[in-house]
Amino acid sequence: MTTRTYNFSAGPATLPLSVLEKAQAELLSLPGVGASVLEISHRSPAFVEIAQAAEANLRELLSISDDYAVLFLQGGSRLQFSMVPMNLLGEHANSADYILTGSWGKNAAKEAAKEGDICIAWDGGSTNYDRLPADGDLDLNSDAGYVHFTSNETIQGVQFAAEPNTGSVPLVCDASSDFMHRPLDVSKYGMIYACAQKNAGPAGLTVVVMRKDLLELSSDDLPGYLNYKVHAENDSMWNTPPTFAIYMLKLVTDWLKDEIGGLEKMHELNKQKAALLYKVLDDNPDFYQGHAKPEVRSLMNVTFRLPDDELTAKFLAAAKEQRLTDLKGHRSVGGIRASIYNAMPMAGVEALRDFMVDFVGRH
Ligand code: PMP
Repeated sequence: MTTRTYNFSAGPATLPLSVLEKAQAELLSLPGVGASVLEISHRSPAFVEIAQAAEANLRELLSISDDYAVLFLQGGSRLQFSMVPMNLLGEHANSADYILTGSWGKNAAKEAAKEGDICIAWDGGSTNYDRLPADGDLDLNSDAGYVHFTSNETIQGVQFAAEPNTGSVPLVCDASSDFMHRPLDVSKYGMIYACAQKNAGPAGLTVVVMRKDLLELSSDDLPGYLNYKVHAENDSMWNTPPTFAIYMLKLVTDWLKDEIGGLEKMHELNKQKAALLYKVLDDNPDFYQGHAKPEVRSLMNVTFRLPDDELTAKFLAAAKEQRLTDLKGHRSVGGIRASIYNAMPMAGVEALRDFMVDFVGRH
């Protein structure tokens, strides 16, 4: 008998049960080590092996070539909002273009503006970020240092199905809330960053995938921790990395490889899961109003509103009774947000789907 609910939290978010069980089984003593992963040096052979395996798993799952460095950092994606312009702007390029498709893109641009000149290539704010730009809508500068976009806007639930085309200007992606949800052509990117606490593990770790030539842009004058090149030269061990979170990333990526069978399969499952919920919205348009335009709906965060606040409160309370939790939408969008990341099982989405259908019937 489990006390676990189906937890639709936007992050930190639900993790695969088998991953938690493995971590639990190994918590007191890693096999062959005699101590917890929490208790050993980051430079010990046992931990170095775990970190290398986590990186190898990421490289395999996402087909990351040797032209890219993989870094394990801290400070969340918020620190990346600052580190990206600190490292990638400078004498060679003073400005960067930002595509604003939701709250996180806007936050990223706000931080970047403290470090350099930021041009807004597109801003969906006038319709409360319910749509995405076509390539032709983007106001891009050919001499920009990079173009920043957010592949999945966690709060609004809008997601790019394909990368915006930025020509030869490096594309920088905040993939925090859809990292590893599908295969990616990494060669289209200058850099990808993702905090771990949605699709990759627990909070405390941020994964950065960066084209190696871009590392050369980092100025030696930057504080060491804020310099990508320093992290790359030290195999992400310039300071003590978040060892437990890296261990969990290893287990999550093992799960993606061995239990799910890779990112093509994961993408298929994610499409199936999301389709179950969006069908309920489409079947009941007078009751459930989706926030995102249908063509840009997120596979990760399903956002919708009910006719009024009273019904929304009832929905949340009744869902909780059915052990479906953490469904409250962000205040800027209101209503409901069901986050259905990789680790949310099909059975959890089916339970929510059934609950939603039943709830309309009763109201
Ligand atoms: N970007 C996106 C898309 C996010 O969803 C989040 C977290 N919800 C962040 C950035 C910020 O991440 P962190 O809290 O790890 O700094």
